[in-house]
Amino acid sequence: GRGGGDSGEFRRARVLMGTVVEITLLDGGAASDAEAAMEAAFSAMAEVEASMSAHRDDSEVARLNAAAEPVEVSAATAEVLELGLRVATASGGAFDLTLGRLKALWGFDGDAPRVPSDPEIAAALQGIGPASLRLAGRRVTKGDAALRVDLGAIAKGYAVDRAVAALRAAGIRHASVNAGGDLRLLGDHGGRPWRIGIQHPRDPQGVLVTLELADAAVVTSGDYERFFEVEGVRYHHILDPRDGRPADACQSVTVVAASAAEADALATAAFVLGPEAGRRLVESRGGLALFVAADGEVSLSEDLKDRVRRP
Ligand code: FAD
Ligand code: MG
Ligand code: MG
Repeated sequence: GRGGGDSGEFRRARVLMGTVVEITLLDGGAASDAEAAMEAAFSAMAEVEASMSAHRDDSEVARLNAAAEPVEVSAATAEVLELGLRVATASGGAFDLTLGRLKALWGFDGDAPRVPSDPEIAAALQGIGPASLRLAGRRVTKGDAALRVDLGAIAKGYAVDRAVAALRAAGIRHASVNAGGDLRLLGDHGGRPWRIGIQHPRDPQGVLVTLELADAAVVTSGDYERFFEVEGVRYHHILDPRDGRPADACQSVTVVAASAAEADALATAAFVLGPEAGRRLVESRGGLALFVAADGEVSLSEDLKDRVRRP
């Protein structure tokens, strides 16, 4: 619904990509202009979902996954694949957009997730890795017909970037787009930074820290977002391609970067790499990172320290 009351904020929420997407405009101008800008932003995100979803049989990703021959994809999908492959290489394979079979094996998105056997995991890891996917312009070739691409760790961020581009094209200069933890800020908040609460990974109602930021993307990957438990052990959806099991170095990683696609990919990669190697990766690509390690210890990039406020 329309929110904000007398603050002049204009807010809408819609379910996309299996999550609630909330857009807030600070300078929507006339109500009709704000509605049109909102509509453009949500449509841009719906377009990304339609082409990049692994949850739909008619997406480009589904077509690529079903194909044995090279596939021509849209410019947008090619852009996401290219960025994903770059982060995959920079992370030494910790980020891997070819682990679709492994993800399906664990069943995190279905109603019957389970711990697979070692042979099942070994079979799902067979032939995966960034080298097994070749991109030439918009033409994608899988090294193995059985390879399954999954853009779940990067496409939500990309959709947020498209929404911000649509808002900007509609003349909006101050806004936020939040897709369930993948967030991007356009401009500042009334001449001051926006204040963004980062969720405490072990306290659903708690805020770990507040970040003061403007014109930036802030994306968090956590082990609390999608998981199941068996005999007190938590199995979550961020998988370490080295052993095919949930990565165990972190509870959560928050990345601040210029674009949400970059921040999304880096947050997942850094989660797998852990606080030290993860921070080096994020900083090498111009981003900043905040880690909660598996033991609860908090660490962060030096340049992020003056943006942090305790809750
Ligand atoms: P992130 O850390 O950003 O990503 C984790 C996800 O990336 C995992 O779920 C897995 O898919 C993949 N992944 C795991 N390990 C790695 C790794 N090492 N390297 C690279 N990737 C990895 N959910 C629904 O329930 N219903 C839907 O219809 C639906 N549609 C979607 C459509 C799109 C286009 C996208 C992008 C997501 C959609 N989702 C949907 C959500 C999706 O299934 C994931 O749960 C979500 O993208 C995970 O995002 P995250 O920010 O929680 O974690
Ligand atoms: Mg991600
Ligand atoms: Mg995310």
